[in-house]
Formats: sequence, structure tokens, C-alpha cells
Amino acid sequence: MKQITQGNEVFKLELPTPFPVGDVNVYVIKGDCLTLVDAGPKTEEAWLAFQHQLKEIGYTPQDIEQIVVTHHHPDHVGMLDHFSDEVSVIGHPFNTPWLKQDEQFIVEFAAFFEKLFIEFGVDKKFLPYINQLKNTLDFSCKRNLKSFIREGEEINGLAGWSILETPGHAQSHIALYEECTGILIGGDLLLKHISPNPLLEPSMTKDICERPKPQLQLNQSISRLLDLPISLVYPGHGENIDEVHKLIVYRLKKQSERAQLVRSFLVEKPLTVFQVCQALFPTIYHKQLMLTISETVGQLDYLLEMEQIKVDTSLKTHRFIANEC
Ligand SMILES: [Zn+2]
Repeated sequence: MKQITQGNEVFKLELPTPFPVGDVNVYVIKGDCLTLVDAGPKTEEAWLAFQHQLKEIGYTPQDIEQIVVTHHHPDHVGMLDHFSDEVSVIGHPFNTPWLKQDEQFIVEFAAFFEKLFIEFGVDKKFLPYINQLKNTLDFSCKRNLKSFIREGEEINGLAGWSILETPGHAQSHIALYEECTGILIGGDLLLKHISPNPLLEPSMTKDICERPKPQLQLNQSISRLLDLPISLVYPGHGENIDEVHKLIVYRLKKQSERAQLVRSFLVEKPLTVFQVCQALFPTIYHKQLMLTISETVGQLDYLLEMEQIKVDTSLKTHRFIANEC
């Protein structure tokens, strides 16, 4: 826990999670009202750590007046269940079905992946992996958003902070930017030690059937930060980031190098998504299928966008082919 920034007072709290990513950072902003940005996972350990660190800065959970969520993942929203209904929960509208754990939505989510697994050529024995999602929801909340925020908007009680929509890691992802200090509370948009996964999700807009392309979205979301004079990013995990633009350029370069590795597989022979995934992650694909498949699709979406590969969709299972240089 550290006190940081000059504009509004911001405090960083580090809470344990049961996930491989390790601790999650949540932020308390003392502006016109006391705002919490993100809430940790729904575990006893996180709740105790939260209360303890909050006490060190002179507050109790009852003092929190509103909570802004950067995105819907359980390590960022689970603890919402510990707060009374009087505390406003604010976020992008796409958080709604996740935060409520809408049953129909979860069924549709599983169906979305079942269909994709056929298209990707994933072996049927991996179908049960889709249900792993339900295990992670045990650490999430059942909560409604009180109000929605979108690109460019400000939040009552948080003067000077504006919202950037930053999809890619999650369709619901936003970041908070304080123009006068150049500080960005970035959620999982940019992390110092790892590159956030571009996670596959169905389209959240009913009239758009095509799935989002999370790697392209993530690239766009971090690239737009290059136009802002950001002094510091307070991330959802790990250390603060000061050389922000340098890290963004590095991340974009690494991603394009990984895409070229994928292309080199396709120069050898046409492959399905699953075959590329196995080649790219030979030792972990079967342990972390949903993550590695998302990452693989990200690289393929990128190469398609760059017109460096093409896809044969004549069969149910699609095959990717390298274009001539
Ligand atoms: Zn996270």
C-alpha cells in the first residue's frame, strides 16, 4: 500500500488472488467522494487484506461511497458482494451479464465456444474445458451496475478523471485518465511484467454476429495511449509503469514477432487454429486451453488483418494458409 499522486489522493492496495496472475491492485481515490477502483476476488483472504490496508489509510469499507470497475474478471469484481446496495457500482455496460452471472448469457457463452471449437479443429475431448469458466465465477460477484460509463465521460465525485474505452483483454474494459497529472488507472490494459491476454468473448452487441478480434482491439487500445502524455500507469497487477510509451512500443513489437513465428508455421503447411496453438504452446496448451487458444486466434486475426495469411472456410474446420510475400 502506497500513497501516490498530486491531483486527487490515490492509494494503492494489493490483494491476494487464487489465480496464477498473483496479487491484484485496487485503488482508493479520495476526491469529492471516496471511490474504489476495482474490488479483489471474493475470498476471505482478499477481504481481510482489503480491510487491513484500508484501515492503515484511515478508512473502513463502510466509508467507500462508490466503486468503479475496470472490467468484469473475477479478480477485479468478486469483492463487490461485500458492499451494501447503497454503494454505487459503476462500469461499462458490457460488464452487466458477467457481474449478474446471467444464466442465459453463460449458456450462450458456452455455446459460442462449442461452435468455435469446431471451427478451430479442437479435439472433442477438450470440450469440458469450456466449463472451467464456471469455476472462476465462484470468485466473482452477483451484483448489478448502478450506472454505466462510456468513452469520454466523467464520473460524479471524481472530478478530473475521464473514461477511455479500452477493449481487448475484456470487451468491458475501461481505463481512468487524470489529465492534469497524466495518470492512468489502467486495469489490465498494460502490465509491466506480462502482456495481458487478448481473451475471446462473444459480441456483446446483439446486432453484430461477428466475434470481436481481441488482439486487434488490444493493439488499438494501447496504441491510442501513445497520443496521450501519460506520466504513470497504475496497473491492475504488479508494479507501476513510468516509461509507458516505451513499454507500449515494446509490447507491439513483441506481438508482431510472435505473429511472424505463427506465419512461419503456416509457410510449412496449412494449419487449423488448434494445430497452431499446439505448435505455439506445445507444453501448456492442454493445461490452459482457453488462454492459449485466445492467444493463438489473436495472432491469426493479426496476420489476416495484415493480409499475410488467408483462411480456407470451405470445411467446418477452417485452415490457415500463408500468403506469398
Ligand atoms: Zn486482472
